[in-house]
Amino acid sequence: MKVRVLGCSGGISQGLATTSFLIDDDILIDAGTGVCDLTLDEMRRIKHIFISHSHLDHVASIPLLADTLFDDLIGKPLIVHALPETIKALRDHIFNWTIWPNFTELPHKTNAVLKLEAAESGTVFDLSGRKIEMIDVNHSVPGVAYRVESEGKVFAFSGDTTSNENFWASLNKHDALDLLFIESAFTNSDIELAKVAFHYCPQLLAEDLVKLEHKTKVCISHLKPGAEQIIMAECEAALPDWEFHQLKIGDIFQL
Ligand SMILES: [Zn+2]
Ligand SMILES: [Zn+2]
Repeated sequence: MKVRVLGCSGGISQGLATTSFLIDDDILIDAGTGVCDLTLDEMRRIKHIFISHSHLDHVASIPLLADTLFDDLIGKPLIVHALPETIKALRDHIFNWTIWPNFTELPHKTNAVLKLEAAESGTVFDLSGRKIEMIDVNHSVPGVAYRVESEGKVFAFSGDTTSNENFWASLNKHDALDLLFIESAFTNSDIELAKVAFHYCPQLLAEDLVKLEHKTKVCISHLKPGAEQIIMAECEAALPDWEFHQLKIGDIFQL
């Protein structure tokens, strides 16, 4: 399995883009502004998009992808998988003919270029042997993490979340974890903001990370632009025995 980081920042600027990861060459996990890193040919290979939650930094590229790839998607639609609440939010607030045309009815309802498919947390998808599990987390809107297993190798991504039990318990149920992307959006000085925004800061993350029974490579994502060095230093100080990596745009992991 190949995991390519298209975007992993809490914001945008030159060299920074919001959350999107490409699994092999046909599956996107989240579709933030990082999707713009792909060439047109690379975009054409995407068949499935798994969305963690409805926030703009994770869905911004879906409407633009549907438009850009319109001709290619006729007869072979792009399929978006997410929680029912997330699908409803996309329908109500993006594909509503005001913010963007409803591509789930274009060019015709029976032959649309975009499919929005709701799935309950706990669902395990099987795409050509790659098993993708939706795991409930704890964010300000309904949100999920994803655990992806392919040929015995496992990658997990937390989505946006703050303190919770379910993500860690779900990872512990399985034997293997080879790569973990976990968010820490704020510095410790913003711990109250992290709590009300339902994100981690290094202190909250460290309190949860010790629940993980797998010793694995831990990459921190969703860092607030400009605060990256402080967040990474605070992660390292909170759990000195753990090895933390700052996830960066363009990173490629071959599992
Ligand atoms: Zn969010
Ligand atoms: Zn976010």
